[in-house]
Amino acid sequence: MSHPPSIPTQSTTLGDFELTVFSDGNYYLDGGAFFGVVPKVMWSRRMQADEQNRLSVGMNSLLIRTGKHTVLVETGAGNKLNEKQKQIYGNEEKLLANLAAAKVAPDEIDIVINTHLHFDHCGWNTVWQGEHAVATFPKAKYYVQDGELRHARMQTERDRVSYLAPNYEPLIESGQMHLLHGDSEIVPGISVKVFPGHTRNLQAVMIHSGAHRGCYISDLIPTTHHLDLTWVMAFDLFPLETIASRKRFYERAIPEQWLVVFTHDPKVPWAHVESPAPGKLVASPVR
Ligand SMILES: [Zn+2]
Repeated sequence: MSHPPSIPTQSTTLGDFELTVFSDGNYYLDGGAFFGVVPKVMWSRRMQADEQNRLSVGMNSLLIRTGKHTVLVETGAGNKLNEKQKQIYGNEEKLLANLAAAKVAPDEIDIVINTHLHFDHCGWNTVWQGEHAVATFPKAKYYVQDGELRHARMQTERDRVSYLAPNYEPLIESGQMHLLHGDSEIVPGISVKVFPGHTRNLQAVMIHSGAHRGCYISDLIPTTHHLDLTWVMAFDLFPLETIASRKRFYERAIPEQWLVVFTHDPKVPWAHVESPAPGKLVASPVR
């Protein structure tokens, strides 16, 4: 199976802000890992796996123009994976080309937010320059939670394959990576909120302009197929906390009609979440 087309670059507005989704292309994840304890007979009605049980899933970055700042949320898987990793994930390395096609220059970005440091969320943070990885966005301040970096550095047996030091250590050394301690405002209208579950310190990006609200919810709810409380990825370190965090998220996201941005959905970059009946959650398209 080759990848179906990834999400095309597209924009919407949220109050005074302009939001554009940029894909780094698709990559492969194991269907069982992506849907955790959910039986394949159930998830296969929502997403089709190939003969190796792989799903082609998206990597959607979000560019926010506030009028004063240009903020990039997530940087995909980048182009620093080794040959074996590229073979496993089949990632397409499209983010910089997609930004260039929309005439977004790397030095226009003044803020980069990583929701966490798994390689498929911070890969284009840096690029190789000779033997050194250097910032792809030279003028940007990068942000991540301090607790996420500490966990990455522990290199535990369970999840060290997800943490590739060249994506973040050079930015710590250069002083470009700023470490946050819990919920924080980044610039007016853009803040981060910690939602534990996938990792302990995953931060969602909250967007607020006028009466309008949006949220890049990241791996707490990776696609519109993961809205149900118990459809939790096997990757999640704290699945019970994922469920609790999702409840806390829906408590406001549904009544306040947040624009929800989905990191790994291969077709739907954003949607409003609605609950037409108790326990039922659906994504309603953004018009
Ligand atoms: Zn992740």
